[in-house]
Amino acid sequence: MLADTDNKALRIVFVGHVDHGKSTLVGRLLHETESILPQKMQDVREICQEKGVQFEYAFLLDALEEEQDQGVTIDFSQVIFKTKKRSYCVIDAPGHKEFLKNMISGASSADAALLMVDAREGLREQTKRHATILSLLGIHSLIVVVNKMDKVGYEKEVFDKIQAEYTPYLKSLKLEPKAFVPVSAYVGDNVASKTSQMSWYQGPTILEVLDSLEHHRAPENKALRLPLQDVYRFDGTRTFAGRIESGKIAVGDKVVFLPSKKTGVVKSIERWNAPPAERAEAGESIGISLEEQVFVERGEVVCHQDSKPEVSREFTANIFWMGDKRLREGATCLVKLTTQETECKIKKILRVINSSTLEDISGQSKEVAKNEVAEVVLGFKKDIVYDTFDVIEETGRLVLEDEKLVSGGGIILKK
Ligand code: GDP
Repeated sequence: MLADTDNKALRIVFVGHVDHGKSTLVGRLLHETESILPQKMQDVREICQEKGVQFEYAFLLDALEEEQDQGVTIDFSQVIFKTKKRSYCVIDAPGHKEFLKNMISGASSADAALLMVDAREGLREQTKRHATILSLLGIHSLIVVVNKMDKVGYEKEVFDKIQAEYTPYLKSLKLEPKAFVPVSAYVGDNVASKTSQMSWYQGPTILEVLDSLEHHRAPENKALRLPLQDVYRFDGTRTFAGRIESGKIAVGDKVVFLPSKKTGVVKSIERWNAPPAERAEAGESIGISLEEQVFVERGEVVCHQDSKPEVSREFTANIFWMGDKRLREGATCLVKLTTQETECKIKKILRVINSSTLEDISGQSKEVAKNEVAEVVLGFKKDIVYDTFDVIEETGRLVLEDEKLVSGGGIILKK
């Protein structure tokens, strides 16, 4: 039997410079894995012919979106395709206007990223910026797709040059790609099957690399962190519901809620569509009830007494800023961290970095412009519960919102 995680869809994001072929590759993958009805493909081809435009795989995505848009239950920003091994969920299909913003809020849950590079263009500013974001968000598995090889005569030298150019750049961001794959998303070379056009390439196809990846596992061997999503009252019993971000919990455990410091002993562990359990671990969404009455709300984090997270009103974070307004010292915005949502103040801007050249530009400006990375001290009016990103990634990540729009994201560096 397949292990549980093998049945779960692997969540992937496509990043890279506009026009380098992200949508084309997603469309190709849908087609090659027969995840889109042949009729749909035919329809799109016919429409292109009628309109006298060249067929684009990206149109498949548009067609799919229109189709799914009519059903209210499907989130059309997510596209699914399947191989024999498992399903893949493309988080935020490329082409969406809010792509980067959704990626910031969604990438933390991505298992892998595909970085698309146009073989003719190599390292571009936008590609570098996306790589910086992936690094900042702690994406573990990265595949570099060198696309449009058909446009460069399928030449090995072009591919080698890009690999040589990218490897040190990615290394400086602590990113180590699982593979560099030369492809033509449009023609289909090295996507689902090997091509005779590039016999010099002995490595895997895109689907082979994808199938070899593992899910990013929530860390069950770290300290318990169970941020509360909701508290339900039922027959006089309170159930504290949430997803275990790290660690394990068992019936009988003495737990503490932070920041309130209220304590209790776990009486039962409830699961959705499954019988109650004696224990549960990272990645599971559960509800716990306690031996005693405890009054706490969403946002509190359930932990064990001997391995508590940080609790403070200030911390230093590394953030990627996407807001239209420049970020200045003294400005306020909303921080979302686990299930906590609270206003923060930019107390200090310590460093500003150009996200594509990685150059320190603090000397030039103490403001953070759109697409820049900055090290900032954030201050809060109340206690915040977190871990530094190097200790537990899941509770060390945050999203920034300004005027109800996702405006940035980042990781917590220190208290
Ligand atoms: P995106 O902006 O990264 O999503 O890029 P698209 O997928 O929309 O591709 C941009 C253009 O490049 C489209 O006209 C595609 O047909 C074309 N394209 C994408 N991949 C390839 C490829 O492998 N070979 C060739 N010749 N054209 C490609």
